[in-house]
Amino acid sequence: MQLSFRPYPLQLQHTFTVSGCSRSQTPDVIIAITHQGVTGYGEASMPPYLGESIQSVCAFLERVDLSSFNDPLRTDDILTYVMHLDDDEPAAHNFAAKAAIDIALHDLVGQILGQPIWRLFGLTPERCTYTTYTIGIDTPEVVKQKVREVEGRFGRLKVKVGVEGDRELIKSIREVSDLPLTVDANQGWTSAEEALRQIEWLQTQGVIMVEQPLPKHNLEGLRWLTERSPLPIILDESVQGPEDVVRLKGCCHGINIKLMKCGGLAPARLMVQLARLQGMQVMLGCMTETTCAVTAAAQLAPCADYLDLDGNLLISNDPFRGGIQVIDGRVTLQTEPGLGLIPEFRVL
Ligand code: MG
Repeated sequence: MQLSFRPYPLQLQHTFTVSGCSRSQTPDVIIAITHQGVTGYGEASMPPYLGESIQSVCAFLERVDLSSFNDPLRTDDILTYVMHLDDDEPAAHNFAAKAAIDIALHDLVGQILGQPIWRLFGLTPERCTYTTYTIGIDTPEVVKQKVREVEGRFGRLKVKVGVEGDRELIKSIREVSDLPLTVDANQGWTSAEEALRQIEWLQTQGVIMVEQPLPKHNLEGLRWLTERSPLPIILDESVQGPEDVVRLKGCCHGINIKLMKCGGLAPARLMVQLARLQGMQVMLGCMTETTCAVTAAAQLAPCADYLDLDGNLLISNDPFRGGIQVIDGRVTLQTEPGLGLIPEFRVL
């Protein structure tokens, strides 16, 4: 097997503002794993707050030597090798780099076996629910314009809150749309009491779920809030990998799984199982990333209560076609083998 990779910075259609930061580009690396003429694609997307960069991802990928693996179907051996490659760096955060390998390997295996990945996982595509489309923080006029642009194409909207003016933002949206809303505070509310007051009001506005209301380490506050909140509390920033699912029992109603945080589909599947075992809900999210990584995440969509898989719709230089589609607001899985991606040009 041969690995190749190339930095491919993603251009965002709109400058994206959430509680805490604002940006117009996302660093990204596209990879390919080729075996006997078949190519699987993968991707590492690095929003700055996760601590990875194009340099760190390329440095990690330089160390990956797949030449000794002759059978791509032995994914367990290959991914175990990749997972432990940075064990000598205790502070390593190479999860996006690992996710890229995991995604490309799954794509390759699916193509070799002639099946879409969701089918290899034994999942039922009709179970896929609506995906949200994310509305960033902006002026009321811009927000209303963005909502009008997507009305009719999406069944649910996700609104970034957690800053001054939350209620005005929601009211602006309600002037132009009555779609169900989810909100993401991105740790922006400072006290559990303030969060509860906001959530009680949000419930009266047709909001159905709240993501990361409090700072990620405030587990005591999150536990207090989870016991009282009329809406489900889903944690995102508090959650990285499988071990966090166990740690956060009682501090939330569910977890947001993202491939770039946990290292790919293999750990994500484990997280789904751990969440179910503990009676937690499952949300599947993504970063701003291309159709490649979004389609990879969507392979687990039949397992999820909430889907937030719009990352590829927020960029203007997506190098892939094919993969998943959003039809009438619902995630519709591809039927082609692997991820079913069609590179728009010679990516690598
Ligand atoms: Mg979030």
